[in-house]
Amino acid sequence: MPILPIVTYNDPILRQKTTPIEDLTPEIQSFINDMFETMYNSDGVGLAAPQVGSNHSIFVMDADPMADEDEETFGPMVFINPEIIEKKGEKIPMDEGCLSIPQVTDKVSRPEKVLVKYRDGEFNEQNREFDGWVARVIQHEFDHLEGVLFIDYLSAFRRRMHKKDLKEIDSGNRETSYPVKPK
Ligand SMILES: [Zn+2]
Repeated sequence: MPILPIVTYNDPILRQKTTPIEDLTPEIQSFINDMFETMYNSDGVGLAAPQVGSNHSIFVMDADPMADEDEETFGPMVFINPEIIEKKGEKIPMDEGCLSIPQVTDKVSRPEKVLVKYRDGEFNEQNREFDGWVARVIQHEFDHLEGVLFIDYLSAFRRRMHKKDLKEIDSGNRETSYPVKPK
């Protein structure tokens, strides 16, 4: 299974909305396997299709390594054509990062619970509520499918703090431990 290069900040594909897939073809299945391979190789907890240059409405995640001891674990999960039906609970600020914006982290406030409708890895329809760390990763990855990045939530001041980093990533000069798409 090949490891796919990760698309980084300012690539237009990260700003495009994705398209739902019609069914789970062998090509899509093998693409999903590649997404997992790519995510694990880069020590990510989630990866959305646009981050590897695809406009499919798919993200994969395995948030278990980052879960608190008392939190439920889920193992690897695939979300195909996801829709967030409802966001619930208090908004909680927490540090986030993104494989497409290497070595930049900042606090983002997100609701603590989400109700998601999606198709799983077998293309079966699911309606499930998630909370805690998993709900945060789902919201971050779902945003990718809508062309939204976590830095969009930051204040103008906080964004200015990251300006130098963003410029370096945009110019293709940032070192990463995983392959990125050349600029
Ligand atoms: Zn991300």
